[in-house]
Amino acid sequence: MRQAFFYAQKMMETLKIAIQKSGRLQEKSLNLLQECGFHFLNGKNQLKTQATNFPLELLFLRDDDIPEYVQDGVADLGIVGENILEEKSYKTKLVKKLGFARCRLSIAVPRESDLISPQQLNGKRIATSYPTILQNYLNSMNISAEIHSISGSVEIAPGIGLADAIFDIVSTGSTLLSNGLKETIQVMKSEAVLIKTPQLNDAKEAILDQLLFRLSSVQNANNNKYILLNAPNEKIDEIAQILPGMNSPTVLPLLQKGWSSIHSVVTENDFWEKINALKEAGARGILIVPIEKMIL
Ligand code: ATP
Ligand code: MG
Repeated sequence: MRQAFFYAQKMMETLKIAIQKSGRLQEKSLNLLQECGFHFLNGKNQLKTQATNFPLELLFLRDDDIPEYVQDGVADLGIVGENILEEKSYKTKLVKKLGFARCRLSIAVPRESDLISPQQLNGKRIATSYPTILQNYLNSMNISAEIHSISGSVEIAPGIGLADAIFDIVSTGSTLLSNGLKETIQVMKSEAVLIKTPQLNDAKEAILDQLLFRLSSVQNANNNKYILLNAPNEKIDEIAQILPGMNSPTVLPLLQKGWSSIHSVVTENDFWEKINALKEAGARGILIVPIEKMIL
C-alpha cells in the first residue's frame, strides 16, 4: 500500500475533502485534520485550500450540500452529521465515525404538555427540518401525524401556534428550555462522520489509507491517557493488575528506597474508575497526561 501511495503522489493525485464552511462542524473538522499533521494554507474566506505537506485539498461547503458533492465525485470525501445523511438517501459510503458533534434528534413539546408517549402524537402537528427521518419514525410506530416542514427556527413553531410539537436536534437542551419546550421522545443519535464517494480510483484509495492511518492514531490518542504514579514496591503486582495498558507497565525505581514509579496507558472511558482502584491499592502522586499520537 505504501508503494501505491508513492505512485499516487507521482501521478499527482490529490484527495479532495469537503468540510462545512461555517457552523458547528467546521472548527472540529479542521482541527481533526490538523491533528493528523496536515498543514493548510490560510483558508479563511476561501472556498478551497491545499495541504502543503500531503496530497489533500479542502473544499468549504454548506453541510447540506456535502453528501451530494461526495456522491457525484466532485469531492472524494466529506465530513457531515449523520442526521444530514439520514434525511435523504445518498450513494455515499460511510468510512468512519468521528466522535464529535454528538447530538440527538428528538420530539419536544411545550413545558406544560402531558405528551410523553409516542402514541399521543396521533393527529398532532409536528414542525421539523427533518421530515423524512420523522416520517420514517412515525411509520415505524404506526402513528399518523401532520408534519410541517420548515427550514429553520423550528423551536418557535409551538409558541406561534404552528405546531403542537417539534422534531429537532438537541444536545444540551438549553435552546428548548429557553423556548419553553421540553424533550420527550428521542428518535435518533447523530455524530460527525467521514463519508466517501462510491467510485474512488486506486491511487486515491492509497492516499485515503494514509489519511485513515493518521486518523486512527489521533483517535486512539484522544481515547487514551498516559498515567504515571508512585507506589511501594510490594504493591507493584497489585497495581499492574489494575493497569493493563498497551503492553505491560513500565516500572522505574525511585530515589526513595522501596518505592517505584509505574507508567502505563489507560482508556479515557475507564480512567476515573481505575484511579479509585489505584488509590485504594496504595498508588500516590498520580499524573494523567494527554497523548498526542498513538500507533497500535
Ligand atoms: P450550514 O450553514 O452549513 O447549512 P447548519 O446551520 O445547517 O449549517 P449547524 O447548525 O452548523 O448546521 O450544524 C451542523 C451539524 O452539527 C448538524 O447537522 C448536526 O449534525 C450537528 N449539530 C447541530 N446542532 C448541534 C448541537 N447543538 N450539538 C452538537 N451537534 C450539533
Ligand atoms: Mg445546513
